[in-house]
Amino acid sequence: MSSVHAKRVVVLLADGARADVMGERLQSGKLPNIAQWMVEPGSFREAVTVFPSTTGPAYLPFLTGASPGPCNLPGIRWLDKDRFAEGKRLAGHRSYVGFESLLMGSDLAPHIQSIFDCVPESAAIFSSLAPRAGRRNRTQFTKIWYWYYAHLTDRWNYVDEVALQKTLRELRKGTTRFVFTVFPGVDEYSHLAHPHHASTFRQYDVLDQAVGEIASDLTRRGEWATTDLWIVSDHGLSQTHEHFCLNRFLECHDLPPFFYPDIFRRKGKLAATMVSGNAMGHLYFRNGHGWRGWTTRTALEHLKPGFLADLVQQPAVDIVAVRNDHGGIDILSRRGEARLDGTPGTLRYACAGSDPFGYEKLPPSFSRDDSLRLTFQSQYPDAPYQLAQLFLSSRTGDVVVSATPGFDLRLGYEYPEHRGSHGSLDRSHMMTPLVCNRKLVDSPCRTVDVFPSVLASLGVPVPNHVEGRPIFA
Ligand SMILES: [Zn+2]
Repeated sequence: MSSVHAKRVVVLLADGARADVMGERLQSGKLPNIAQWMVEPGSFREAVTVFPSTTGPAYLPFLTGASPGPCNLPGIRWLDKDRFAEGKRLAGHRSYVGFESLLMGSDLAPHIQSIFDCVPESAAIFSSLAPRAGRRNRTQFTKIWYWYYAHLTDRWNYVDEVALQKTLRELRKGTTRFVFTVFPGVDEYSHLAHPHHASTFRQYDVLDQAVGEIASDLTRRGEWATTDLWIVSDHGLSQTHEHFCLNRFLECHDLPPFFYPDIFRRKGKLAATMVSGNAMGHLYFRNGHGWRGWTTRTALEHLKPGFLADLVQQPAVDIVAVRNDHGGIDILSRRGEARLDGTPGTLRYACAGSDPFGYEKLPPSFSRDDSLRLTFQSQYPDAPYQLAQLFLSSRTGDVVVSATPGFDLRLGYEYPEHRGSHGSLDRSHMMTPLVCNRKLVDSPCRTVDVFPSVLASLGVPVPNHVEGRPIFA
Protein backbone atom coordinates (compact mmCIF):
# COMPACT_ATOMS: atom_id res chain seq x y z
CA MET A 1 0.00 0.00 0.00
CA SER A 2 1.47 3.38 -0.94
CA SER A 3 1.68 6.38 1.34
CA VAL A 4 -1.12 8.21 -0.53
CA HIS A 5 -4.01 9.24 1.65
CA ALA A 6 -6.55 6.68 2.77
CA LYS A 7 -10.20 7.37 2.04
CA ARG A 8 -11.20 6.04 5.44
CA VAL A 9 -9.63 4.85 8.67
CA VAL A 10 -11.10 2.28 11.04
CA VAL A 11 -9.70 1.95 14.57
CA LEU A 12 -10.85 -1.10 16.52
CA LEU A 13 -10.05 -0.76 20.21
CA ALA A 14 -9.76 -4.19 21.79
CA ASP A 15 -10.15 -2.95 25.34
CA GLY A 16 -7.63 -4.57 27.66
CA ALA A 17 -5.88 -6.64 24.96
CA ARG A 18 -2.35 -7.51 26.04
CA ALA A 19 0.51 -7.12 23.58
CA ASP A 20 2.13 -10.43 24.57
CA VAL A 21 -1.13 -12.41 24.42
CA MET A 22 -1.98 -11.05 20.99
CA GLY A 23 1.61 -11.68 19.81
CA GLU A 24 1.55 -15.29 21.01
CA ARG A 25 -1.85 -15.96 19.45
CA LEU A 26 -0.70 -14.48 16.15
CA GLN A 27 2.49 -16.58 16.27
CA SER A 28 0.59 -19.79 16.88
CA GLY A 29 -1.83 -19.14 14.00
CA LYS A 30 -4.89 -18.57 16.22
CA LEU A 31 -5.74 -15.18 14.69
CA PRO A 32 -5.73 -16.06 10.97
CA ASN A 33 -7.75 -13.06 9.76
CA ILE A 34 -5.65 -10.49 11.61
CA ALA A 35 -2.54 -12.23 10.24
CA GLN A 36 -3.77 -12.37 6.63
CA TRP A 37 -5.48 -9.00 6.30
CA MET A 38 -3.33 -6.87 8.59
CA VAL A 39 0.01 -8.24 9.76
CA GLU A 40 1.16 -9.72 6.43
CA PRO A 41 0.65 -6.56 4.34
CA GLY A 42 1.27 -4.31 7.37
CA SER A 43 2.70 -4.53 10.86
CA PHE A 44 2.31 -5.83 14.39
CA ARG A 45 4.04 -3.66 17.00
CA GLU A 46 3.97 -3.14 20.75
CA ALA A 47 3.15 0.37 21.92
CA VAL A 48 3.28 2.02 25.33
CA THR A 49 -0.03 3.38 26.57
CA VAL A 50 -0.48 6.30 28.97
CA PHE A 51 -0.50 6.44 32.76
CA PRO A 52 -3.00 5.71 34.25
CA SER A 53 -3.37 2.66 32.04
CA THR A 54 -7.11 2.59 32.45
CA THR A 55 -10.25 2.58 30.30
CA GLY A 56 -11.40 6.11 29.49
CA PRO A 57 -8.25 8.16 30.16
CA ALA A 58 -6.26 5.67 28.06
CA TYR A 59 -8.69 6.23 25.14
CA LEU A 60 -7.52 9.87 24.99
CA PRO A 61 -4.39 9.15 22.91
CA PHE A 62 -6.50 7.66 20.12
CA LEU A 63 -9.15 10.37 20.21
CA THR A 64 -7.00 13.45 20.90
CA GLY A 65 -3.31 12.56 20.42
CA ALA A 66 -2.74 13.74 24.00
CA SER A 67 -2.13 12.09 27.36
CA PRO A 68 -4.45 12.24 30.41
CA GLY A 69 -2.40 14.98 32.16
CA PRO A 70 -2.63 17.64 29.42
CA CYS A 71 -6.26 16.58 28.84
CA ASN A 72 -6.94 17.19 32.57
CA LEU A 73 -8.59 13.75 32.84
CA PRO A 74 -6.04 12.10 35.13
CA GLY A 75 -8.05 9.01 36.03
CA ILE A 76 -11.34 7.18 35.90
CA ARG A 77 -11.91 8.88 39.26
CA TRP A 78 -10.44 12.20 40.34
CA LEU A 79 -10.84 15.11 42.73
CA ASP A 80 -10.36 18.77 41.87
CA LYS A 81 -9.18 20.15 45.21
CA ASP A 82 -10.02 23.79 44.54
CA ARG A 83 -13.55 23.03 43.36
CA PHE A 84 -14.05 20.45 46.11
CA ALA A 85 -13.10 23.14 48.61
CA GLU A 86 -16.17 25.11 47.48
CA GLY A 87 -18.13 22.39 49.24
CA LYS A 88 -20.92 22.00 46.70
CA ARG A 89 -22.46 18.57 46.32
CA LEU A 90 -21.07 16.72 43.29
CA ALA A 91 -18.66 19.58 42.57
CA GLY A 92 -15.01 18.82 42.17
CA HIS A 93 -15.02 15.04 41.96
CA ARG A 94 -15.81 12.40 39.39
CA SER A 95 -16.15 8.71 38.85
CA TYR A 96 -16.65 7.77 35.23
CA VAL A 97 -17.94 4.39 36.37
CA GLY A 98 -21.66 5.06 36.06
CA PHE A 99 -23.69 8.06 34.95
CA GLU A 100 -20.91 10.61 35.50
CA SER A 101 -19.24 9.02 32.45
CA LEU A 102 -21.52 11.29 30.38
CA LEU A 103 -19.49 14.25 31.74
CA MET A 104 -16.12 12.97 30.50
CA GLY A 105 -16.27 14.89 27.23
CA SER A 106 -17.11 18.20 28.91
CA ASP A 107 -14.42 17.66 31.56
CA LEU A 108 -11.76 17.53 28.83
CA ALA A 109 -9.36 20.53 28.80
CA PRO A 110 -10.94 23.05 26.38
CA HIS A 111 -7.82 23.55 24.23
CA ILE A 112 -7.66 19.86 23.30
CA GLN A 113 -9.12 19.06 19.88
CA SER A 114 -10.58 15.63 19.35
CA ILE A 115 -10.86 13.54 16.22
CA PHE A 116 -14.47 14.69 16.04
CA ASP A 117 -13.31 18.32 15.75
CA CYS A 118 -10.73 17.40 13.12
CA VAL A 119 -12.73 14.93 10.99
CA PRO A 120 -16.42 15.87 10.66
CA GLU A 121 -17.36 12.60 8.92
CA SER A 122 -16.54 10.36 11.88
CA ALA A 123 -18.36 7.95 14.19
CA ALA A 124 -17.80 6.38 17.60
CA ILE A 125 -19.30 3.03 18.58
CA PHE A 126 -19.37 1.89 22.21
CA SER A 127 -16.76 4.43 23.24
CA SER A 128 -17.04 5.71 26.81
CA LEU A 129 -15.44 8.90 25.54
CA ALA A 130 -16.36 10.80 22.37
CA PRO A 131 -15.61 14.50 23.01
CA ARG A 132 -17.88 16.84 21.06
CA ALA A 133 -19.07 13.99 18.84
CA GLY A 134 -22.75 14.81 19.37
CA ARG A 135 -24.85 12.44 17.29
CA ARG A 136 -21.70 10.95 15.78
CA ASN A 137 -21.42 9.07 19.06
CA ARG A 138 -23.75 6.39 17.71
CA THR A 139 -24.25 4.65 21.05
CA GLN A 140 -24.30 7.59 23.47
CA PHE A 141 -27.59 6.52 25.04
CA THR A 142 -27.80 2.82 24.14
CA LYS A 143 -24.32 1.84 25.35
CA ILE A 144 -25.40 1.85 28.98
CA TRP A 145 -28.19 -0.67 28.22
CA TYR A 146 -25.89 -3.00 26.32
CA TRP A 147 -23.40 -2.80 29.23
CA TYR A 148 -26.13 -3.38 31.79
CA TYR A 149 -27.49 -6.37 29.88
CA ALA A 150 -24.03 -7.92 29.45
CA HIS A 151 -23.18 -7.21 33.09
CA LEU A 152 -26.28 -9.09 34.26
CA THR A 153 -26.08 -11.97 31.79
CA ASP A 154 -22.30 -12.24 31.40
CA ARG A 155 -22.76 -12.11 27.61
CA TRP A 156 -20.00 -9.73 26.55
CA ASN A 157 -19.52 -11.72 23.34
CA TYR A 158 -22.97 -10.44 22.33
CA VAL A 159 -21.78 -6.83 22.78
CA ASP A 160 -18.68 -7.53 20.67
CA GLU A 161 -20.94 -8.94 17.94
CA VAL A 162 -23.12 -5.80 18.06
CA ALA A 163 -19.92 -3.70 17.83
CA LEU A 164 -19.05 -5.51 14.59
CA GLN A 165 -22.53 -5.10 13.08
CA LYS A 166 -22.63 -1.39 13.89
CA THR A 167 -19.16 -0.93 12.35
CA LEU A 168 -20.20 -2.70 9.14
CA ARG A 169 -23.34 -0.58 8.93
CA GLU A 170 -21.31 2.61 9.40
CA LEU A 171 -18.85 1.66 6.67
CA ARG A 172 -21.61 0.71 4.22
CA LYS A 173 -22.86 4.29 4.31
CA GLY A 174 -19.80 5.11 2.22
CA THR A 175 -19.44 8.66 3.62
CA THR A 176 -17.82 7.97 6.98
CA ARG A 177 -14.07 8.70 6.96
CA PHE A 178 -13.23 7.64 10.49
CA VAL A 179 -14.77 4.95 12.71
CA PHE A 180 -13.69 4.23 16.29
CA THR A 181 -15.20 1.03 17.68
CA VAL A 182 -14.66 -0.42 21.13
CA PHE A 183 -14.79 -4.19 21.64
CA PRO A 184 -15.19 -4.60 25.42
CA GLY A 185 -15.05 -8.42 25.59
CA VAL A 186 -11.34 -8.97 26.31
CA ASP A 187 -11.34 -6.43 29.14
CA GLU A 188 -14.52 -7.72 30.74
CA TYR A 189 -13.49 -11.38 30.76
CA SER A 190 -9.99 -10.43 31.92
CA HIS A 191 -11.57 -8.75 34.96
CA LEU A 192 -14.08 -11.53 35.60
CA ALA A 193 -11.60 -14.38 35.09
CA HIS A 194 -8.03 -13.40 34.15
CA PRO A 195 -6.04 -12.27 31.10
CA HIS A 196 -5.05 -15.86 30.17
CA HIS A 197 -8.43 -17.50 30.71
CA ALA A 198 -10.17 -19.44 27.92
CA SER A 199 -13.15 -17.02 28.03
CA THR A 200 -10.75 -14.10 27.48
CA PHE A 201 -8.96 -15.87 24.62
CA ARG A 202 -12.33 -16.44 22.95
CA GLN A 203 -12.82 -12.68 22.68
CA TYR A 204 -9.52 -12.37 20.76
CA ASP A 205 -11.03 -14.91 18.34
CA VAL A 206 -14.21 -12.81 18.09
CA LEU A 207 -12.05 -9.81 17.19
CA ASP A 208 -10.24 -11.90 14.58
CA GLN A 209 -13.55 -12.88 12.98
CA ALA A 210 -14.64 -9.24 13.03
CA VAL A 211 -11.49 -8.25 11.11
CA GLY A 212 -12.25 -10.99 8.55
CA GLU A 213 -15.79 -9.68 8.06
CA ILE A 214 -14.81 -6.01 7.85
CA ALA A 215 -12.00 -6.70 5.35
CA SER A 216 -14.16 -9.01 3.20
CA ASP A 217 -17.02 -6.53 3.17
CA LEU A 218 -14.74 -3.65 2.12
CA THR A 219 -13.06 -5.88 -0.50
CA ARG A 220 -16.43 -6.75 -2.05
CA ARG A 221 -17.13 -3.05 -2.47
CA GLY A 222 -13.63 -2.31 -3.82
CA GLU A 223 -12.80 -0.17 -0.78
CA TRP A 224 -10.26 -2.27 1.10
CA ALA A 225 -7.21 -0.86 -0.74
CA THR A 226 -8.13 2.67 0.37
CA THR A 227 -8.86 1.76 4.00
CA ASP A 228 -6.45 1.90 6.93
CA LEU A 229 -7.46 -0.61 9.58
CA TRP A 230 -5.94 -0.48 13.06
CA ILE A 231 -6.29 -2.71 16.12
CA VAL A 232 -5.25 -0.93 19.28
CA SER A 233 -5.68 -1.38 23.00
CA ASP A 234 -5.82 1.02 25.91
CA HIS A 235 -3.97 -1.08 28.49
CA GLY A 236 -2.81 -4.55 29.43
CA LEU A 237 -4.02 -6.40 32.52
CA SER A 238 -2.64 -8.66 35.20
CA GLN A 239 -4.20 -11.21 37.48
CA THR A 240 -5.17 -9.91 40.93
CA HIS A 241 -4.40 -12.10 43.96
CA GLU A 242 -4.93 -9.65 46.77
CA HIS A 243 -6.98 -6.54 47.46
CA PHE A 244 -5.28 -3.81 49.47
CA CYS A 245 -7.53 -1.12 50.86
CA LEU A 246 -6.02 2.36 50.57
CA ASN A 247 -8.98 3.69 52.57
CA ARG A 248 -8.27 1.46 55.54
CA PHE A 249 -4.61 2.35 55.34
CA LEU A 250 -5.52 6.03 55.55
CA GLU A 251 -7.93 5.40 58.42
CA CYS A 252 -5.17 3.59 60.32
CA HIS A 253 -3.13 6.78 59.99
CA ASP A 254 -6.03 8.90 61.33
CA LEU A 255 -6.73 10.28 57.87
CA PRO A 256 -10.41 9.47 57.27
CA PRO A 257 -10.84 9.43 53.48
CA PHE A 258 -13.47 10.67 51.07
CA PHE A 259 -13.98 8.07 48.35
CA TYR A 260 -16.42 6.55 45.82
CA PRO A 261 -19.11 5.37 46.22
CA ASP A 262 -19.46 6.96 49.66
CA ILE A 263 -19.55 10.52 48.32
CA PHE A 264 -22.30 12.06 50.43
CA ARG A 265 -20.21 12.19 53.57
CA ARG A 266 -17.44 14.72 53.39
CA LYS A 267 -17.59 16.05 56.96
CA GLY A 268 -14.47 15.29 58.95
CA LYS A 269 -12.60 13.87 55.99
CA LEU A 270 -8.90 14.67 55.93
CA ALA A 271 -7.92 12.83 52.75
CA ALA A 272 -9.45 11.48 49.54
CA THR A 273 -8.70 8.42 47.43
CA MET A 274 -9.56 8.14 43.75
CA VAL A 275 -8.63 4.74 42.31
CA SER A 276 -8.31 3.96 38.58
CA GLY A 277 -8.28 0.51 36.94
CA ASN A 278 -7.87 -0.55 40.54
CA ALA A 279 -4.06 -0.65 40.32
CA MET A 280 -3.52 3.12 40.39
CA GLY A 281 -4.71 5.67 42.90
CA HIS A 282 -4.66 9.41 43.50
CA LEU A 283 -4.40 10.54 47.14
CA TYR A 284 -5.38 14.07 48.15
CA PHE A 285 -4.82 15.64 51.56
CA ARG A 286 -6.33 18.51 53.46
CA ASN A 287 -3.72 20.92 54.74
CA GLY A 288 -3.50 24.24 56.56
CA HIS A 289 -5.53 25.83 53.73
CA GLY A 290 -8.31 23.21 53.90
CA TRP A 291 -8.64 21.37 50.61
CA ARG A 292 -7.11 24.15 48.51
CA GLY A 293 -3.61 23.92 47.05
CA TRP A 294 -1.11 21.09 46.89
CA THR A 295 -0.01 19.18 49.94
CA THR A 296 3.64 18.70 49.08
CA ARG A 297 5.93 16.03 50.45
CA THR A 298 7.25 18.39 53.12
CA ALA A 299 3.73 19.45 54.12
CA LEU A 300 2.63 15.82 54.28
CA GLU A 301 5.65 14.87 56.41
CA HIS A 302 4.68 17.70 58.72
CA LEU A 303 1.03 16.59 58.78
CA LYS A 304 1.66 12.87 59.27
CA PRO A 305 5.30 12.05 59.98
CA GLY A 306 6.22 8.60 58.67
CA PHE A 307 3.08 8.21 56.54
CA LEU A 308 4.88 8.19 53.18
CA ALA A 309 7.58 5.84 54.41
CA ASP A 310 4.92 3.44 55.67
CA LEU A 311 3.02 3.67 52.36
CA VAL A 312 6.14 2.78 50.38
CA GLN A 313 6.73 -0.25 52.61
CA GLN A 314 3.33 -1.81 51.82
CA PRO A 315 3.79 -4.89 49.58
CA ALA A 316 0.78 -3.75 47.48
CA VAL A 317 2.46 -0.43 46.76
CA ASP A 318 5.11 -0.46 44.06
CA ILE A 319 5.76 3.18 43.10
CA VAL A 320 4.80 6.37 44.92
CA ALA A 321 5.06 9.80 43.29
CA VAL A 322 4.61 12.92 45.40
CA ARG A 323 4.79 16.62 44.58
CA ASN A 324 7.92 18.20 46.06
CA ASP A 325 8.51 21.83 47.10
CA HIS A 326 10.42 22.66 43.91
CA GLY A 327 7.59 22.16 41.41
CA GLY A 328 8.76 18.67 40.55
CA ILE A 329 7.94 15.13 41.63
CA ASP A 330 9.73 12.81 44.02
CA ILE A 331 9.50 9.15 43.00
CA LEU A 332 9.80 6.61 45.81
CA SER A 333 9.91 2.82 45.90
CA ARG A 334 11.44 0.15 48.10
CA ARG A 335 14.34 0.13 45.58
CA GLY A 336 15.26 3.80 45.87
CA GLU A 337 14.31 7.38 45.17
CA ALA A 338 14.53 9.88 42.31
CA ARG A 339 13.58 13.47 41.62
CA LEU A 340 11.87 14.35 38.34
CA ASP A 341 11.42 17.88 37.04
CA GLY A 342 11.83 20.01 33.93
CA THR A 343 9.14 19.88 31.26
CA PRO A 344 7.63 16.84 29.51
CA GLY A 345 9.77 17.86 26.48
CA THR A 346 13.02 18.01 28.47
CA LEU A 347 12.99 15.93 31.61
CA ARG A 348 15.54 16.19 34.40
CA TYR A 349 16.00 13.04 36.45
CA ALA A 350 18.24 12.59 39.49
CA CYS A 351 18.48 9.51 41.69
CA ALA A 352 19.26 9.69 45.37
CA GLY A 353 20.99 6.33 45.80
CA SER A 354 19.50 3.53 43.74
CA ASP A 355 16.91 4.03 41.04
CA PRO A 356 13.27 3.61 42.20
CA PHE A 357 12.42 1.77 38.96
CA GLY A 358 15.63 -0.27 38.89
CA TYR A 359 16.67 1.42 35.60
CA GLU A 360 20.25 1.23 34.45
CA LYS A 361 21.65 4.72 34.88
CA LEU A 362 19.58 7.31 32.99
CA PRO A 363 21.20 10.57 31.84
CA PRO A 364 20.51 13.63 34.05
CA SER A 365 18.49 15.27 31.27
CA PHE A 366 16.63 13.68 28.38
CA SER A 367 13.86 14.23 25.85
CA ARG A 368 10.39 12.72 25.54
CA ASP A 369 11.72 10.41 22.80
CA ASP A 370 14.62 9.35 25.04
CA SER A 371 12.23 8.47 27.86
CA LEU A 372 10.59 5.94 25.54
CA ARG A 373 13.75 4.67 23.86
CA LEU A 374 15.84 4.24 27.04
CA THR A 375 13.15 2.40 29.02
CA PHE A 376 11.10 0.63 26.33
CA GLN A 377 12.36 -2.86 27.21
CA SER A 378 12.31 -2.30 30.98
CA GLN A 379 9.71 -3.27 33.57
CA TYR A 380 8.52 0.37 33.60
CA PRO A 381 8.39 1.48 29.97
CA ASP A 382 8.33 5.28 29.59
CA ALA A 383 7.63 5.89 33.29
CA PRO A 384 9.52 9.24 33.54
CA TYR A 385 7.52 10.84 30.73
CA GLN A 386 4.30 9.21 31.90
CA LEU A 387 4.63 10.65 35.40
CA ALA A 388 5.60 14.06 34.00
CA GLN A 389 2.52 14.22 31.77
CA LEU A 390 0.16 13.05 34.54
CA PHE A 391 1.33 15.71 37.00
CA LEU A 392 0.46 18.43 34.45
CA SER A 393 -3.18 17.94 35.44
CA SER A 394 -4.57 20.20 38.15
CA ARG A 395 -6.75 17.23 39.18
CA THR A 396 -3.84 14.85 39.82
CA GLY A 397 -3.37 13.83 43.45
CA ASP A 398 -0.81 15.17 45.88
CA VAL A 399 0.39 11.58 45.90
CA VAL A 400 0.01 9.00 43.13
CA VAL A 401 0.30 5.29 43.86
CA SER A 402 1.11 2.58 41.31
CA ALA A 403 0.31 -0.89 42.66
CA THR A 404 2.48 -3.98 42.63
CA PRO A 405 1.19 -6.48 40.01
CA GLY A 406 -1.00 -9.05 41.76
CA PHE A 407 -2.54 -6.41 44.03
CA ASP A 408 -5.22 -3.84 43.55
CA LEU A 409 -6.08 -0.84 45.69
CA ARG A 410 -9.79 -1.35 46.40
CA LEU A 411 -11.49 -3.73 48.72
CA GLY A 412 -15.17 -4.39 49.00
CA TYR A 413 -16.61 -1.81 46.57
CA GLU A 414 -16.56 -3.81 43.36
CA TYR A 415 -19.26 -6.15 42.13
CA PRO A 416 -18.59 -8.64 40.68
CA GLU A 417 -15.19 -8.99 42.34
CA HIS A 418 -12.36 -7.96 40.03
CA ARG A 419 -9.77 -10.66 39.45
CA GLY A 420 -7.80 -8.66 36.91
CA SER A 421 -6.30 -5.20 37.33
CA HIS A 422 -4.63 -2.46 35.34
CA GLY A 423 -3.85 1.21 35.75
CA SER A 424 -0.26 0.93 37.00
CA LEU A 425 3.12 1.79 35.47
CA ASP A 426 4.07 -1.88 35.28
CA ARG A 427 4.92 -3.38 31.90
CA SER A 428 2.01 -5.84 32.09
CA HIS A 429 -0.37 -2.85 32.15
CA MET A 430 1.53 -0.40 29.95
CA MET A 431 2.32 -2.49 26.87
CA THR A 432 -0.39 -2.75 24.23
CA PRO A 433 -0.64 -4.38 20.80
CA LEU A 434 -0.63 -2.13 17.75
CA VAL A 435 -1.69 -3.71 14.46
CA CYS A 436 -2.13 -1.85 11.17
CA ASN A 437 -2.62 -3.03 7.60
CA ARG A 438 0.13 -0.53 6.62
CA LYS A 439 3.85 -0.81 7.32
CA LEU A 440 4.86 0.97 10.52
CA VAL A 441 8.29 2.17 11.65
CA ASP A 442 10.36 -0.37 13.48
CA SER A 443 11.12 1.81 16.50
CA PRO A 444 9.46 2.16 19.92
CA CYS A 445 6.08 3.87 19.76
CA ARG A 446 3.29 5.08 21.99
CA THR A 447 -0.47 4.93 21.62
CA VAL A 448 -0.44 8.77 21.21
CA ASP A 449 1.23 8.16 17.82
CA VAL A 450 -1.96 6.63 16.37
CA PHE A 451 -3.91 9.93 16.28
CA PRO A 452 -1.37 11.90 14.17
CA SER A 453 -0.98 8.82 11.94
CA VAL A 454 -4.74 8.72 11.34
CA LEU A 455 -4.83 12.47 10.54
CA ALA A 456 -1.79 12.20 8.25
CA SER A 457 -3.46 9.35 6.41
CA LEU A 458 -6.67 11.34 5.94
CA GLY A 459 -4.71 14.43 4.87
CA VAL A 460 -5.97 16.45 7.86
CA PRO A 461 -3.69 18.97 9.67
CA VAL A 462 -2.44 17.82 13.08
CA PRO A 463 -3.33 20.14 16.03
CA ASN A 464 -0.47 21.70 18.01
CA HIS A 465 -1.23 19.94 21.29
CA VAL A 466 -0.55 16.48 19.82
CA GLU A 467 2.26 14.63 21.61
CA GLY A 468 2.85 11.84 19.09
CA ARG A 469 4.05 11.64 15.49
CA PRO A 470 2.92 9.63 12.45
CA ILE A 471 4.54 6.20 12.52
CA PHE A 472 4.15 4.93 8.95
CA ALA A 473 7.34 3.39 7.55
ZN1 LIG B 1 -9.88 -0.67 29.17
